[in-house]
This record gives sequence, C-alpha cells and structure tokens, in this order.
Amino acid sequence: MNNFSYQKVSETADALDQISKCNLTQIIAGGTNIIDLWKYNLIQPKLLIDINGIEKFKRIQQTEDGGLFLGALATNSDTAYHMEVEKNYPLLSRAILAGASAQIRNSATNGGNILQRTRCYYFYDAASPCNKRKPGSGCPAKNGLNRMHAIVGTSEDCIAVFPSDMCVALAALEAVVHVVSSVGKREIKFSAFHRLPGNTPEIDNNLQPNEIITGISLPPEGFAENYSYLKLRDRNSYAFALVSVATGMKLENGLIQKIRIVLGGIAHKPWRVPEAEDFLIGKNPTAVNFASAAELILKDAKGFGDNDFKIELSKRAIVRNCIMAIHPETLRPGAQPSL
Ligand SMILES: Cc1cc2nc3c(=O)[nH]c(=O)nc-3n(C[C@H](O)[C@H](O)[C@H](O)COP(=O)(O)OP(=O)(O)OC[C@H]3O[C@@H](n4cnc5c(N)ncnc54)[C@H](O)[C@@H]3O)c2cc1C
Repeated sequence: MNNFSYQKVSETADALDQISKCNLTQIIAGGTNIIDLWKYNLIQPKLLIDINGIEKFKRIQQTEDGGLFLGALATNSDTAYHMEVEKNYPLLSRAILAGASAQIRNSATNGGNILQRTRCYYFYDAASPCNKRKPGSGCPAKNGLNRMHAIVGTSEDCIAVFPSDMCVALAALEAVVHVVSSVGKREIKFSAFHRLPGNTPEIDNNLQPNEIITGISLPPEGFAENYSYLKLRDRNSYAFALVSVATGMKLENGLIQKIRIVLGGIAHKPWRVPEAEDFLIGKNPTAVNFASAAELILKDAKGFGDNDFKIELSKRAIVRNCIMAIHPETLRPGAQPSL
C-alpha cells in the first residue's frame, strides 16, 4: 500500500507552496501518463498536487508580438481544434491529432504532453534493469527488443526515445516553455527543454523539481502555407511513432526561403539538424535536394538490430514529408501525396 495525500489547488502560489513541503511530490494534470507510471510502481508519490483548479492555465490567447500562448492546462484537443491554431499553426494541430486517441487527447494537457515519459518496454517493466528508472542498473534495450528505440543521440546508458507528437511540431515552430517557481519565472527555448540521455538518462528535461509549467508560447511564424506532419507507425491510429517528421517551409519565387525539419520517434528529444536546413536555403524544393538534407540529418545514425530499418525509413519520410509540405492540400483525409 502506497499511502499518499491529495491536494487540489486553484492558485499557482498554493501549488508552489505544496511543492516546497515534500520532496516526493507529483503534479497531476490530465493524469494520462502519471497514473500509468504509478500503476506500474515506477513512482511512489507521497503528495499528489492536482493543478486542474488553476483556471488561468487553461487559456489559449494571442500574445502582444502576434504569437499565441497555450496554457499548460489547455487540453490537447482544445489546442488542436482552437481556431487560431487551425488557422495559423496547422502543423501543430496535425501533430497533436496524430497522437493517442480522441479520449486521451480530451484529458491530456499541453504541460503533461511535453513531460510525458518514454514508452521503452524496459522502463515500464519494474523487473528489468533500466538506467532511466534505476541509474546504474543497465540498458537491456541495446541488445534486446529495440524496434521502437533511438537511432541518433543515444548513449552507452540509454537508447530510449521521447514519444510525443506535439513536441515535434513545437520544436519546428521554435516554441518557448514558460515556467514558474518560488524564486520567479523563467523561459526555456524548446530546443533546450528536452535532453539527450548522456550518462544521466533518468533526467528527461531541464525543468527543475520545484518548477511548474505555466504554458508554451508560439512565435508569430506558423508556416501555415507550407507544412506537413507525417507519422509512420505499426498501426494507423492509437500507436506511437516509429518515425515522424514535422516540416514547415516558406517559399519565395519557387525557392526555399526558410525551412524547419524535425523528427520524432528516433531520439531522446525532437531531432533537428540546423546544418541540413541551412543546406536547403535558396535551393529548389526537389526530392533530390530533400534527400541530400536527409543524409545530413541522419549522418550519425546508428541502429541496434531491430531498429536498423528506421535509418532508411527516416530518410524516406523526410523526403516524402517535405514534398507534402509544398502541397498541403494533399493532406486532405484520404488524399495521396504525389511525389
Ligand atoms: C494509450 C496511450 C497512447 C498515447 N499515444 C500517444 C501518441 O501517439 N502521441 C503522443 O504524443 N502522446 C501519446 N500519449 C501520451 C499522452 O499524450 C500523454 O500521456 C499526455 O499528453 C500527458 O498529459 P497529461 O495532462 O495527462 O499529463 P499527466 O499524466 O497528468 O502528467 C504527466 C507528467 O507531467 C507533469 N506535469 C503535468 N502538468 C504539469 C505542469 N503544468 N507543470 C509541471 N509538471 C506537470 C506530471 O507531474 C507528470 O510527471 C498516449 C498516452 C496513452 C495512455
């Protein structure tokens, strides 16, 4: 029996106060990940702080610079179907709707999504060693079942992937995470939020234990003209990505003026290689050029056996998704992209 206390708060200050009282505290938002972690006995909180009463965290509103602020407690569904998101950030809307199921998206929140933990089988199996769950115990995935595991940014200690779809689009949009603690507010660039495993795979991101996410801001540029999110997985719905790609592009006189390409499902964080984007600037948006960029993005990729196929799959997914971004109308349900 794991005895715990439950506190529902309606003010940020109360949440921060509760956090400071106990070092075995967990925040619950939509509960779609934390309850699983608890049921698998991977966490044993002594104090559960329910932040769902903090109404201001549920807001989605325009920012002074013409961007959009997504409250930490806005649900994934409310975000994906929000008028401004559909109009100005359709890449984000597509990525969110590619994840989980409608029921889960109705509960899942934006703050919880970016803090969700890996789906590595060994992490969830408390009987297996796992450096992420128990530092120093080993990583059985490297020589075990690793079909879903990472091919870039891995370390000796961990080859787990970060499974979010939403975050792949947030990385492409260069979102900013807003956090608060008892010492004040702070903003974290999305590229600096999640971490590679290195020799501390137990730490997924750079949020400090005493901090709460208040929301995520999007800059004005949403790539609403030329965008695409492609998610490749074992089933066509309700499955995590084997490989996903978010592309946002701006074209001028038929040439690439700006491009973002971010991959999901292949690393411990959304995977972006600026060198590959720079290579494409000023070039024609052709399959040949996208294939060259894909080679740059995957140049250090390494498989572990079961997941070797992800290297070639990622390269093909990049080319296909960038072509689809030129013609987003091919994204209509049932439409097939013409390559
Ligand atoms: C069956 C299933 C399939 C899924 N498939 C997909 C998929 O295909 N793609 C995908 O992207 N996701 C998928 N998910 C994951 C889902 O999107 C996440 O579980 C969800 O987004 C987490 O949000 P939540 O609000 O429920 O978080 P919770 O479970 O409430 O919390 C998750 C973590 O975030 C912390 N937390 C939450 N809010 C805050 C805050 N404001 N400040 C600080 N800490 C906070 C909690 O303490 C906890 O550690 C799936 C989940 C399930 C169960």
